[in-house]
Amino acid sequence: MRVLALLDGTLADPEAPLLRADDLSVMRGDGVFETILVADRKPRELGPHLDRLERSARLLEMRLPERAAWERAVRTVIDNWPWDTDREMALKLVCSRGVDGGDGTPSAFAMGMQIGPETIRKRRDGVSVVTLDRGFAPDLMERAPWLLLSAKTLSYAVNMAAMREAESRGADEVIFVATDGTVLEGPTSNVVLAKGRTLYTTPPSTGILRGTTQGAVFRAAEEAGWQTRVETFSAEELLRADGLWLASSVRLLTQVHTVDGTRIPADADLHAELSKLYESNY
Ligand code: PLP
Repeated sequence: MRVLALLDGTLADPEAPLLRADDLSVMRGDGVFETILVADRKPRELGPHLDRLERSARLLEMRLPERAAWERAVRTVIDNWPWDTDREMALKLVCSRGVDGGDGTPSAFAMGMQIGPETIRKRRDGVSVVTLDRGFAPDLMERAPWLLLSAKTLSYAVNMAAMREAESRGADEVIFVATDGTVLEGPTSNVVLAKGRTLYTTPPSTGILRGTTQGAVFRAAEEAGWQTRVETFSAEELLRADGLWLASSVRLLTQVHTVDGTRIPADADLHAELSKLYESNY
């Protein structure tokens, strides 16, 4: 199931070609995107997602359609989604730099998609992860802004290759580690760790994506009396945690039960508590 809308708020046929072959998203992955969960017609964290889309476009120095146009396209997709049969969708906002040699007019669309059975299984059963080297130091973002760390660009081939590596090692997911052994993020998720009643996540200054889900979870947890810390921690801490999750819009808070082949505590009550906090906060 796909529902495709253009930024003037009209629907388009999701099975018909939309982009030119010389579009820079096709030629070079040169563009930005967001993936938003819509549940029961309500887009979650839409403001933070649009803020992040704008930030990514600024980092890439590319033109982005105005916010009202994105909001209009989001509305069109939501209004045309078959809510009777599907109570959730993953809504992608995609924007490329336009065609090669063009005047920079962006190509953009919003597309609603069904959430796959694998994601549902991982949400329900939790996941095993492997830690993989991301190959950069946590201070690289500051030293080399042209590497576009922390921008959500359309170039996700490396992230997808890491997921295949995890699969080939018999694991469900990946946690990337910096060259100094500190934890970064997953290929499409942020890491959230619990120690007692304190939640930890990696700082965005390390070049990771600032997560809207992690942000919402921390907001809700703070209101409920948890302590939260945004600071670096080593990969060994993953094994010492009282609870570990991967957080992202579509996977929500997915509990991690195994790290590099070692079982870690995966308390169902703790998972239920944090998931409920997140659900209550949007
Ligand atoms: N980190 C990366 C690299 C991602 O691609 C994503 C989302 O896809 C996230 C983190 C989680 O972000 P969010 O919670 O806003 O979906």
